[in-house]
Amino acid sequence: MPQSPSSEVRRKLETLRNRFRDKTIREIEGLVASIFNASRHPGATEDLIAAYQLLHRLAGSAGTLGFTQLGEQARKLEIAIKPLADRVAAGADSEPVQLELKHLLAAGYESDIVGLGKFLGTVEPVSTQWHQPRPADADNTSVLLILEPDPALAEQILRGLALYGYRLRILSNGQAWSDSMDDVDLVIVRDVLLQDEGGHWLPRLHDHPVICFSEAHDFTTRYRLANLGVDACIDEPQDIPALADRIEQLLAEGLTTLTGRVMIVDDDSELLEHYRLVLTSGGLLVRAVGDPSRLLSELSEFRPDILLMDVQMGPYDGPVLARMLRFQAEWLSLPIIFFSSEEDRDLQLDVLARGGDDFVTKPVSDEFLLRTARIRCYRARQLGKLVSLDSLTGLLKHALAKTELNREYARSARTGHDSAVAMLDLDHFKQVNDSYGHGTGDMVIKALSNLLRHRLRKTDIIGRYGGEEFVIVLPECSLEKTVEVLEALSQDFARLVFNAGNEEFSVTFSAGVALLTAYESGEQAIEAADRALYQRKRAGRNGVTVASGD
Ligand code: GH3
Ligand code: MG
Ligand code: MG
Repeated sequence: MPQSPSSEVRRKLETLRNRFRDKTIREIEGLVASIFNASRHPGATEDLIAAYQLLHRLAGSAGTLGFTQLGEQARKLEIAIKPLADRVAAGADSEPVQLELKHLLAAGYESDIVGLGKFLGTVEPVSTQWHQPRPADADNTSVLLILEPDPALAEQILRGLALYGYRLRILSNGQAWSDSMDDVDLVIVRDVLLQDEGGHWLPRLHDHPVICFSEAHDFTTRYRLANLGVDACIDEPQDIPALADRIEQLLAEGLTTLTGRVMIVDDDSELLEHYRLVLTSGGLLVRAVGDPSRLLSELSEFRPDILLMDVQMGPYDGPVLARMLRFQAEWLSLPIIFFSSEEDRDLQLDVLARGGDDFVTKPVSDEFLLRTARIRCYRARQLGKLVSLDSLTGLLKHALAKTELNREYARSARTGHDSAVAMLDLDHFKQVNDSYGHGTGDMVIKALSNLLRHRLRKTDIIGRYGGEEFVIVLPECSLEKTVEVLEALSQDFARLVFNAGNEEFSVTFSAGVALLTAYESGEQAIEAADRALYQRKRAGRNGVTVASGD
């Protein structure tokens, strides 16, 4: 029988712990020997530095690998020996250091060091609670589960959302929500169904983005909904474009948090592997780097969203590496988060004051590690998007859309395949604003962008070219196919019903299409598509016109 991902992960974490245990047994033996050596032989006090470093490392790593008590004890022993190690490092005479070490050993340090190994017997069970794999694809065929008791309303929502290309499942309540529906990406539920206090399905809501239809605006009800795991409340379920907009946002949030790229740098191989396992099984893409001197080349190759790095790595110092990275403009905005121990407080403040990056305190729990990494990847990506994406629609901004168009022009010229460009403009949009207000107008613009995003291929380029004007580039697509796709889109868009107060209305768009490869440049192709668009406007709007000459 194939193992479930989480039992597979658990097995790997277990193996890692055993490796850590074997290694640590040997290291503790060496530690005991070197401390005794330092107390007895003149000139052997140098060993205290290595002993301190080992204890410091154990204090940081043991807890993360499940040996919490060992980590705590190592921390205690590390703190006790640090003043001596510091003195040796500063070149102090060995005699007084030795004398003090002997006092320390006699006062209980000896038995503590010798007894350190027994804590390797106390280990917390491996948990993979944080491991909740979700289907990775929430693209054009995201599965929505709709729990709506009113059959007429359910039907209306079904018809409306189907236009966006979602796969939809409707139930009249949550009782019939079975395990066979584990592919659900998002849940939409009517608030009355959530009164079902004992419902066995209620806890499932916490595993999905949830939109609730509810007209309640009072604090108590809303708090209760949030507590049940509801992410968004909508009071007019009939407003399909508004609903689709919220669905789109929630699905996007889930996806970006799941697809972050994380680079971890740590010279402790078990710890590094542990972090890698936890983050990978949580859906993140991870590059683990054990040799800090490879940092720059690995960064250029992997291009992470965030960098997690240990503070002390043999001859390398994490904050110095961070400062070095900032020499290069391309890594100026890369968020760098350090793994550091409680004892590094001063260093933490120092680095925060200089660079505004952050710390995760060791030992770090698996769940915390995963959540921190996810949220930081998400934020890093959001920031990146602010620069290139239009804030209302999430589509490419004008300049970037043009860059992408030119890139596709060059590509199609090189390979000889057909690609098309289309310009879209909403019809009589000024009237929409004038009659229903600018806010409603914005919603129409968003509805069209959502529809485009859902119905076009992932590889198509969609940009907001101007206020209510869009540009689309369809790589490797014939003119006939492009017209067919746009005709279908224009018919479906025209069928969307918008609400403004008590009024309902619909909007249409006109489109002009040109074959990218039929022109001297990307610029000329856009102009041709634009001319076709205005022919369409003159010919009565609501439809698609192909540029003459194509
Ligand atoms: P036509 O069918 O000829 O395209 O008529 P139209 O009314 O759509 O054309 P026109 O270019 O005269 O008007 C476009 C309107 O779109 C005017 C402008 O106020 C509105 N608009 C542009 N950007 C936005 C926006 O971001 N939000 C809203 N609500 N309206 C916008
Ligand atoms: Mg217009
Ligand atoms: Mg216009």
